[in-house]
Amino acid sequence: MSTYSLEIRPDGIAIVTLDVPGEAVNVLGRAVREDFAALFELLTNDQSVRGAVLRSGKPDSWIAGADVGELAGIRTATDAERLSRDGQLLLEKLESLRMPVVAAIHGACLGGGLETALACGYRIITDHPKTILGFPEVQLGLIPGAGGTQRLPQLVGLRASLDMILTGKNVYPRKALAIGLVDEVVHPSILLDIAAARALELAEGKRASSSTRRRGIADFALDENPIGRGVVLKKAREQTLARTHGHYPAPLAALDVIAAGYDQGDDHGFHEEARRFGELVVSPVARELTFLFFASNELKKDPGVDGDAPEPLPVDKLAVLGAGFMGAGIAAVAALKGTLVRLKDTDAAQVGRGLAAARDVFNERLQKRHITKNEFDDLRSLVGGTMDYSGFANVDLCIEAVFEDLAVKQQVLREAETALPSDAIYASNTSTIPIGQLAAASQRPEQVLGMHFFSPVPKMPLLEVIVTPRTGVAATVTAVAYGKKLGKTVIVVNDGPGFYTTRTLAVYMNEAGFMLDDGADIAALDAAMVDFGFPVGPIQLLDEVGLDVAGKVATVLGEAFGDRMPRSRSLEKVLAAGRTGRKGKSGFYRYDPKAKKGEVDQSVYELLPTGAQRATYPADEMQRRLVLALVNEAVRCLEEGILRSPRDGDVGAVFGIGFPPFHGGPFRYIDAVGAAEVVRRLEELDARFPRRFSPAPLLEKMAHSGARFHPERGRGSVPSSREPQGQ
Ligand code: NAD
Repeated sequence: MSTYSLEIRPDGIAIVTLDVPGEAVNVLGRAVREDFAALFELLTNDQSVRGAVLRSGKPDSWIAGADVGELAGIRTATDAERLSRDGQLLLEKLESLRMPVVAAIHGACLGGGLETALACGYRIITDHPKTILGFPEVQLGLIPGAGGTQRLPQLVGLRASLDMILTGKNVYPRKALAIGLVDEVVHPSILLDIAAARALELAEGKRASSSTRRRGIADFALDENPIGRGVVLKKAREQTLARTHGHYPAPLAALDVIAAGYDQGDDHGFHEEARRFGELVVSPVARELTFLFFASNELKKDPGVDGDAPEPLPVDKLAVLGAGFMGAGIAAVAALKGTLVRLKDTDAAQVGRGLAAARDVFNERLQKRHITKNEFDDLRSLVGGTMDYSGFANVDLCIEAVFEDLAVKQQVLREAETALPSDAIYASNTSTIPIGQLAAASQRPEQVLGMHFFSPVPKMPLLEVIVTPRTGVAATVTAVAYGKKLGKTVIVVNDGPGFYTTRTLAVYMNEAGFMLDDGADIAALDAAMVDFGFPVGPIQLLDEVGLDVAGKVATVLGEAFGDRMPRSRSLEKVLAAGRTGRKGKSGFYRYDPKAKKGEVDQSVYELLPTGAQRATYPADEMQRRLVLALVNEAVRCLEEGILRSPRDGDVGAVFGIGFPPFHGGPFRYIDAVGAAEVVRRLEELDARFPRRFSPAPLLEKMAHSGARFHPERGRGSVPSSREPQGQ
C-alpha cells in the first residue's frame, strides 16, 4: 500500500498527498523513504508534470518526524550514519528535481518533516495554532540528520538556526514568516489552492524560489564574517554548557556541525552531520531520552488500570475547590481544553485572585499569539467564580485544592458531596495526605481519588492519579483520561503517605537537610545537585516550595515511616525560627532587594547545628547520599505496590520532581549502575548513617539475581509491581 497518493492536474501541477496507512501522523519510516525515491523518479520522468505540491492527508499534522522506533533499533554508529546519509541523499534528490516543489504545510512539521520542507523550493503554512515547525531532535539526544543543520542556517541565518536547533523549541506561524523559515502564511481553507498556484508561478518563472536568502543585511554580514560567526558560536556554546552542565552532547555536536558547514563548505557540513548523528544515536543519553519518549507515549495509551478498562466518563463541567495557587492553575488548564469551570473559595477576594490568576495564564497565550482575542474572551467566560456551591449540581468532576490539612479537606469533602451530583468524581490535589484518610469522610469512596498536579500547573507535564483500594475503575479511567485531555502525562499510583513523587522527593530533600546537619555548605550542596543534573538544588527548592509545606510533608512521612525517615535538625530549626522560604522573603537564600541572585543568607547558618563553621564535602559524596536515598525509596514504592511499574517510576521522577532526564529515571539509573553496585553503595552509607540507607529488599534480591528493571538492558526484568517479584 502506498504511503502517498498522486493527482496530476491539467495545468501540470502534481498534488502529492502523504498519508501513511494505519498511522495517526506521517513519520518518515522506511516505507515513506522508498515511496519518495520512486515518486521523485516518476516526477522526473513524467514530462507533463511542471511543478508539485507536497501536502499531508492527516488532520492537523504534516510530517511529525523520523521513525523513532527505527532509530531505537539501530545498534551501531555506522548503521545510524548510513541512515542519515541515505536521508540526506533522498532530500538532495528532492531539492534538485527539475520542477519546483511547494510544501503545503498544515499541522506539525517537525524534525525530518521540517528537513523535507527545507528541501522544497517554497513553503506555505497555515495560520492555525496546530501548525508548528521545529527541530525537536535535541530532546531525544540527537541532531537533525537529513541536512537540517546545513539547510536551516542557509535559509534563516545562524542565530535563528541556533535558537531552533539547540533548544528544540517549536516555531509558530507568525515567527516562522518573520525569520524567513516559510514564504507565506494562509488560512487552511485556501492552502491547497495557493500552493498549486505558487507551484505554477514558480514553474512559469513568475516567482522566485525561496532558496535566495531572505535574511536581513545584519545577519547576512554576521554569518559571512568568520569573526562575527565565531563570537556567536562561542556564546552559544557557553550558554549551552551553562544550561546542560555538559550532560547533553547533542547541542554541542549541533554547534560543531553547523560551524563545519560554514567553515569548510556544504559537503563537509553534510558529512559531519551524518557522522555525528551516527555517534549520537547509539549514545547512552539518546538511549535514555528515547526511553522516556516511548514511556510517555505508552502512557498516552494506558487507561490507568490493568485488564479490561471501561470507557471513561465525559468531563465537560468541572468544579474546583480552592482558588489559590493550584486551584487557579487547574481551572485555567481545564478552560484551555474547553471545560466549563466553577472556581470556589471562601471569600470574594480569594475568588477574585483566583480568576485573575487564571486570566494571566490566558493572557500569556494571547501575548504569545497562540490564541486570538476572541478565544481569550471565550476562555475567560468559561471560568466562573463562586463562594457557595451554586452550579455544583451538574458538574462531572470536582477537584479540591484547599489548604493541606486533613480536617479542612474532610470538611470540604463532606460539604461538597451534599451539593454534587451523586455520580460526580471527587479528586483531591493533596500532595501528601493519604487519599484513604480523606475518603473516610466520604459517602461514596468509590468516586474519590487523588489528582496530584504539580506547580506551576500550566507548565508541569505530570499528573499523578492516586487510587485507594475502594476507588472504582470508572473513576480511575475517567481521571486518567481527563488528565490526558489536559495535556498531562499521567501515572496512576496506589495510595500511601506521599504517594510516589512526594515520598521520593521528601527523602531526597531530607537527606539534603542531614547534609546541612553534618556541616555542608548550602551553595556547595545545591551546586553539586545541579551539577548532577537536577534543575535546581534541594535547598533552593525548599525555599521555593516553602519550609512550612516541607515541614508538613516531613511530619506525615515521619509518622508513617518512623525512624527510617527521621527529620533533619537543620530544617526543623530554620522552620522554627519562622523562616518559610521565598514566599516569606526569608529562608536559606536572601530575597531582599540588595541580594545578588542566588545569594545564601549567611545568617541562616547560626540556626544550623554546626553553626557558621562549614565542612567541605566532595560533590560526589553529596550526590551519592541524596541520589541513593531517592532511588532506594523509589524501589520501595515499587515493591510496596505504590507504583504499577518501573516505567511509571521513571517518568514520574523525571517529569514530576526533576530527576535528570539523561539518567532516564531512578530505575534506569539503577540498571545503568547495576543493582549489586547500588546495594554495595547503600550498605556503605547504611553503616555510617544507620537505617536511612538500608537497601530495599527488592533491590537486594535483584542484586543477587542480576535482574534489571527494564528488560532491554539485560535478561530479567521487573515489569509490574502486581507480579511476583522473586526474580
Ligand atoms: P493556596 O494556599 O494557594 O490555596 C488554597 C486555597 O484554598 C486558598 O485560596 C483558600 O482560601 C482556599 N480554601 C481554604 N479553605 C477552603 C474552603 N473550605 N473552601 C474553598 N476554598 C478554601 O494553596 P495551594 O498551594 O494552591 O495548595 C492547594 C493544595 O494543593 C494543597 O493540598 C497542596 O498540598 C496541594 N499542592 C500544592 C502544590 C504547590 O506547589 N503549591 C503542588 C501540588 C499540590
